[in-house]
Amino acid sequence: MDKIKMSTPLVEMDGDEMTRILWQLIKDELLFPFIELNTEYYDLGLEHRNETNDQVTVDSAEATKKYGVAVKCATITPNAARMTEYNLKEMWKSPNGTIRAMLDGTVFRAPIVVKGIEPCVRNWKKPITIARHAYGDVYKNVEMKIPAAGKCELVYTAEDGTETREVIHNFTGSGVIQGQHNIDASIESFARSCFTYALDTNQDLWFATKDTISKKYDHNFKDIFQEIFEKEFEGKFKEAGITYFYTLIDDAVARVMKAEGGFIWACKNYDGDVMSDMVSSAFGSLAMMTSVLVSPQGYYEYEAAHGTVQRHYYKHLKGEETSTNSVATIFAWTGALRKRGELDNNQKLSDFADKLEKACVQTIEEGKMTKDLALITTLENPTVLNSEGFIKAIRETLEKML
Ligand code: NAP
Ligand code: MG
Repeated sequence: MDKIKMSTPLVEMDGDEMTRILWQLIKDELLFPFIELNTEYYDLGLEHRNETNDQVTVDSAEATKKYGVAVKCATITPNAARMTEYNLKEMWKSPNGTIRAMLDGTVFRAPIVVKGIEPCVRNWKKPITIARHAYGDVYKNVEMKIPAAGKCELVYTAEDGTETREVIHNFTGSGVIQGQHNIDASIESFARSCFTYALDTNQDLWFATKDTISKKYDHNFKDIFQEIFEKEFEGKFKEAGITYFYTLIDDAVARVMKAEGGFIWACKNYDGDVMSDMVSSAFGSLAMMTSVLVSPQGYYEYEAAHGTVQRHYYKHLKGEETSTNSVATIFAWTGALRKRGELDNNQKLSDFADKLEKACVQTIEEGKMTKDLALITTLENPTVLNSEGFIKAIRETLEKML
């Protein structure tokens, strides 16, 4: 069989620990034998980030802007312990944060649904994709403890010096206050990323805030979404047969619980933080969550939602056997390869991505899986495989399919 060719390189961002081990296994077993893999390689492993003073992260984000599609391995976000472990020059920032800021993107997280790993919510039949606005609100707040009676005001001083004031509260005793902000440009980017991704995946888009209570702040989010939808996306949505639906956040939560899935739920920063943990744990396993960063210009960076699985890596270093689930990392590759195929009119590449995903799902549904899934599956007598054995089992399924 001829290997599939690629006309444009994929931006490849290598990472750390156990996922770095899986990364190489995935390439050796599931990609190199079938594709003339064309990537522009960036080593985002912590050692190399440290050597390059984190320039490699910036370069990889620039390359994503140039080529449009990237695939990323999980990476360590340094903390105090990592400073000593890796003898770091600085506590480098989270690569995901750096890349997200440079691409001005929104992260979409969706579970991989397979028979035998059943969601806690019985009526969820299809994935629910959560989009979280990653700027502002309570995450960039300013807070004060109010020790005793006094007046608290919001004051806006324009550049010409004119002031606008609003009384927050006339305190008669002690209390607390908090100031929050957001920026129209950021909300606009968020909205465009959501509408773009809805079209891209042919799914309805839901958005919810508390605009009945927050008549200016949340209402601003609602208005921006509506305006961009009407101006730029309404026609395309009609053509695609999908809808944009706005409701109140409490109504959205109630509807999500009763829905069957298959839509994108756009959330403000805090709602997205809370709801993505709820949705991902209800769907079963962090190791089965995919994640894609989508910029308003339509640049894509695919990855797994989980981290570098440090605990398994330390076992691996001691020579002990590991059973680490590679599915979300494989789906990062297939997502990126399919997107590359779409952009380059390379049908063979997109078809290969579809088949590799099917091979992962089928392997699990046949009862071959890693330990994390074996612990929660409804299938009887699953075969528990080690990290490498699972990837080899997927290869066997794939070879039968091709
Ligand atoms: P983690 O890597 O997500 O793993 C936490 C635990 O979840 C693991 O110990 C394991 O549980 C389970 N798990 C996660 N992925 C799994 C998989 N593929 N297969 C089987 N089990 C899996 O989080 P962490 O250990 O807290 O963080 C490790 C490093 O990852 C940190 O340095 C953090 O900065 C980084 N991180 C990076 C990203 C990213 O690059 N996107 C995201 C999150 C965290 P058991 O140990 O019980 O088996
Ligand atoms: Mg959280």
